[in-house]
Amino acid sequence: MHNENEHRPVVLAIGGHDPGGGAGIQADIEAIGANGCHPTTALTCLTVQDSCNVSQLIPLAVEHLTAQCEAVLEDCTVTAIKIGLLGSCQAIDGVTRLLKTSPQIPVILDPVLAAGGGSELSSEQLLDKIREELLPLCMLITPNTVEAARLSRDSSSASLDRHAQILLQLGCRSVLITGTHDENEPNRVINRLYRADKQTLIRQHPRLPGEYHGSGCTLAAALAARIGRGESLENATRNALDYSWNCLQQGYRTGRCQSIPNRWFEALSNNNR
Ligand code: PLP
Repeated sequence: MHNENEHRPVVLAIGGHDPGGGAGIQADIEAIGANGCHPTTALTCLTVQDSCNVSQLIPLAVEHLTAQCEAVLEDCTVTAIKIGLLGSCQAIDGVTRLLKTSPQIPVILDPVLAAGGGSELSSEQLLDKIREELLPLCMLITPNTVEAARLSRDSSSASLDRHAQILLQLGCRSVLITGTHDENEPNRVINRLYRADKQTLIRQHPRLPGEYHGSGCTLAAALAARIGRGESLENATRNALDYSWNCLQQGYRTGRCQSIPNRWFEALSNNNR
């Protein structure tokens, strides 16, 4: 029997499939569930990859992508949408068309431009489309320092503040630049939340050794769940960053290269495992 008192906000994750279970939709499902929401999903593409790198990206037909989103949006009250790897210009067109029909739902975009192992997952044309069509529809984007420089097209300057200002001018309402790829900070990771007309929120964590597959997905999905539950952007940011750091700190190896974030660490500790 279902429980009438159980309220579970619904989050829609739009992204690609990683057969290794580190990144993409599977990361989203785990992080959204662990942060108290029900994950619904729409696949943009399949990938062939292992814990080392992505070797193939196989986009799904855009009508199949939008049909998945429509099925969820027509059936459920979706309280946040998280977007990860889009994989094709057609996917961006399809998703932007859909988002315009549900402007009340906050959109959190993790701009996945390259795989952790280095494989390029975007083209200049795709980058332009994200900048011009998708960013204006986003409540929050979560680039790392490399993605922020590429998306702002400001790679000549090293100023994160400048990158963030350009991204805000492109129309997204807030930008969380994560410091995982910042080579100037060997001991800590500094994350900065930028909003127009508000002071920058800075959160830092000790830098962890090693590399992780799906850390960006984990963070953006946790943020979407927190926002979908009604937390303020500042609280969602603090909580999602702390959650993600804990996932990495308790991460585990399944293959030869990058580790997997342990997105269930709280459930496992509750069970005394
Ligand atoms: N989504 C998919 C399907 C991917 O393959 C990748 C990276 O390879 C990502 C997202 C981004 O992963 P990360 O969170 O490690 O940046």
